[in-house]
Amino acid sequence: MIEVLKIYKSFGGKAVLSGISLEVNKGEVVAVIGPSGSGKSTLLRCINLLEKIDRGTIAVENEIMVSTNANGRAEYADKKKLRDIRLKLGLVFQNFNLFPHFNVLKNITEAPVSVAGTRKQEALETALQLLEKMGLEDKAEAYPFELSGGQSQRVAIARALALNPDVLFFDEPTSALDPELTLEVMKVIRKLAEEHMTMVVVTHEMGFAREVADRVIFMDNGVIVEQGTPEELFTNPKNERTKMFIKGFN
Ligand code: ADP
Ligand code: MG
Repeated sequence: MIEVLKIYKSFGGKAVLSGISLEVNKGEVVAVIGPSGSGKSTLLRCINLLEKIDRGTIAVENEIMVSTNANGRAEYADKKKLRDIRLKLGLVFQNFNLFPHFNVLKNITEAPVSVAGTRKQEALETALQLLEKMGLEDKAEAYPFELSGGQSQRVAIARALALNPDVLFFDEPTSALDPELTLEVMKVIRKLAEEHMTMVVVTHEMGFAREVADRVIFMDNGVIVEQGTPEELFTNPKNERTKMFIKGFN
């Protein structure tokens, strides 16, 4: 589904991603863990075309988004192709990023109607179905300021799903939430996992990673230090840095 090969990214001369390679298979749930500043958000932002890489290859469903040209620089596909690729990817942020001046329904239907060209009526029907799935059918007319953090995040997830992405990325979806609200958001993500939605979840919730992920990736300092099944990584980490990091959560 997603293929990332030796990508590099620096900000102002500071290397943030240093040769990251990773694959995400259809139906797989991958958790990405690692200390703050290790490059997890940058990795998601690069795959989701919110940042440009310096070098390396990214492909989505065998469509090349970017690869390294003969001069050793990243060369991106044309606009139309990037737009098509972008529509296959959904991203949910830590801070929800809802449009404050739109109600919940409009937050969810805006992109399908104005970006993907979905008919308004169809977009509305989909939005209502998604709200029901998120347990928020009574919030269709509410504005973001009227929602709790957990409700806002579930609306953000519905909004991402409304574009019917092939892969959904989450960047610390619960780190702005109280424990109680964290649970309601994780429940929704767990449900999507049961439906075999392909997902990449950056998280500090080790219990969640352990329980829901098929594979866990530990990043530190711009590289993937270790990856494996939750069992391998949490019970029997091989790398010292992984051991130290996981210990910090026990
Ligand atoms: P993580 O999500 O693992 O905490 P980030 O990907 O947010 O890590 O950041 C990795 C490093 O890149 C940090 O040192 C951060 O300060 C730096 N960084 C991230 N985004 C930018 C940016 N837009 N400009 C400059 N530095 C950035
Ligand atoms: Mg981050």
